[in-house]
Amino acid sequence: MTKAVRVRFAPSPTGALHIGGLRTALYNYLFAKKHGGTMVLRIEDTDQARYVEGAEDYIKESLKWIGIQPGEGPGMGGEFGPYHQSQRKAVYTEYAQQLIDSGQAYYAFDTPEELDALRERLKEAKASSLHYNAVTRMQMKNSLTLPPKETERLLASGTPYVIRFKVPLKEDVRINDLIREWVVVHTSALDDKILLKSDGMPTYHLANVVDDHLMQITHVIRGEEWLPSAPLHILLHKALGWEHEIPQFAHLPLLLKPDGNGKLSKRDGDKHGYPVFPLDGNFPGKNGDIEHFKGFREEGYLPNAFLNFLALLGWNPGSEQEIFSMEELIESFSLDRINKAGAKFDIEKAKWFNQQYIKNMGPAELGEFLAKELDHHNIEYTPGILEEISTLMRERIEFTHQLWTEGKFFFEKPDSYDEQVTRKKWNDQAIEILEGYQSRILETSDLDADRAKEILSNLLEEKGVKIGQVMQALRLAITGKGGGPDLMKIIEILGKQEVASRIKYAIDNLPVIQSNQ
Ligand code: GLU
Repeated sequence: MTKAVRVRFAPSPTGALHIGGLRTALYNYLFAKKHGGTMVLRIEDTDQARYVEGAEDYIKESLKWIGIQPGEGPGMGGEFGPYHQSQRKAVYTEYAQQLIDSGQAYYAFDTPEELDALRERLKEAKASSLHYNAVTRMQMKNSLTLPPKETERLLASGTPYVIRFKVPLKEDVRINDLIREWVVVHTSALDDKILLKSDGMPTYHLANVVDDHLMQITHVIRGEEWLPSAPLHILLHKALGWEHEIPQFAHLPLLLKPDGNGKLSKRDGDKHGYPVFPLDGNFPGKNGDIEHFKGFREEGYLPNAFLNFLALLGWNPGSEQEIFSMEELIESFSLDRINKAGAKFDIEKAKWFNQQYIKNMGPAELGEFLAKELDHHNIEYTPGILEEISTLMRERIEFTHQLWTEGKFFFEKPDSYDEQVTRKKWNDQAIEILEGYQSRILETSDLDADRAKEILSNLLEEKGVKIGQVMQALRLAITGKGGGPDLMKIIEILGKQEVASRIKYAIDNLPVIQSNQ
C-alpha cells in the first residue's frame, strides 16, 4: 500500500511572506489535494532572534486570501501537533541525545574566540569557508578530543556547549530530487552543522528533519535555496535510523527579477512600484527599521486572478490553457511540469490575469465592486445603474477600483478636461453643434442611446458636419476625457438634464483654445 501523501509548508515567522514563499505553499497544497493528501502548516519559530510579531498572522492570512486551507496546523487541528516548533523543544533534545548516544553527534565547547581563531587559520591556509568538519574537528574543544571525564565535568559545571552533527567520512549522498533529478554530494563538502544551540533550542536542520519524520511527511516541496541543506537532512534521517522513510524532495526554482538576473526582491518591487508580497504589511526590513511591504491584495488584485498568476509562475500545464480555477489547478498540477529554470516575474502578466477575471465577471458581481467604491467615496447612487455601468467599463479596466477612477464621470461632473483633446477638438464648429444638441435632447421625452444617436446624426446632417469632427468634443464636455465606453450609452445613463447641463457648463467654461475653421 502506498502511503498517504503528506506535505508541509514550513515558514519561519520572520516578516512578510514573499510571493515566492506563497508559491511554495500553493504548490504544496496543489500536490496534496491532487493526491488526496494533507498539507500541514508548520511554524518554524525556533530562531528567537529572528522572530517577528505578526508574521504568523500575515502568513495565515495570505494563505486564506488565495484559498489555501491547510489540513493541519496551529489552530487548525491535527494529530501531529504542536505545530509551532518552539513548543517542541523537548522532542528535539531527545533526538539530539539519541545522536550523541549513538556517536553520531558530539558536544562542542569552543568559545566564540576559539571559533574565530579557527576561521583565521583556515583563511590563511586559503581553505574554503567550511570550518568545523571532519578535518578540523579533531583540533577543537569537543567531546571527540577531550577525555570523557573532562567532557562530563564541563557539562556538569554548566559550561556553554552546542551539539554538532558528526558528518560521516567519505560518503556520497544521493538525492533523487523530483525536479532537479539526481544530485550527488560528497560528505567532504559538508561541515559539522550545529544541531542544538547553546540556548537549548534546535537549529533549523534538526527541527526540520525530526518534524518531517514525526509528522510523517512524504514529500518535501520547498525553495531551491534549501537544496544545499538536503544532503545534510538525508544524513540526519539516516543517523536517526529512519533511512527507509526519508521523504522525497522537490526543490522549486527561484522567482527571478523581470530581467532574469537574480532573485526577485523587495527592492525590485519598491523601485518599479509593484508589489512582491501578497498583502500590505509593516515589518522590519533588512537594516531592522520598520518598512512598508506593498501587497497584491491592496493593489487591487483579485484573489483568484492572483492565484492563477502565481500558479503559472514556474509551472506549465502542458497546454495552451491559461485561466485556471483552484479546482482546475488541482486537477492539472504535477511536479514534473515545474520548469527547471527560474521563473521571471512579470507584473504585466499579473495585470493581464486580473483583467481577464474582470472581463469574465458577471454584471452583478462587478456592480458590487462599484458599489463598494461609491460607498467609500460617499457617493449617492441609484442601485439600478451599477450593473449597466460596470458592464460598460468592464473591457477597459485592469482593476475593479478603476470602475471608480475611470468611471467617476458617471457620478460627478468633470472637474477637468483633457488638455490635448481640448486643444485639438474644442472649436467654434463643435460648440455650435453641441449647443444645438443640448437643446434638442431636452425636447425629447425618452432619451435612450439610440435616440441620442439619432438626434446627433440628424443635427450633423442638417449642418453638413461629419461625426468625427464633433464626437470627441461631445465626449469631452460630458466626461472630461478623450476616450471611454460608448458615449451614447453614457448619455442614456446620465439622462438628458444632466447631459444638457454638462454641455452647457463646458461651453460656458471651456475656452476656445484653437479654432481650426
Ligand atoms: N523554515 C524554512 C523556511 O522558512 C523551511 C524550509 C523547508 O521547507 O525546509 O523557508
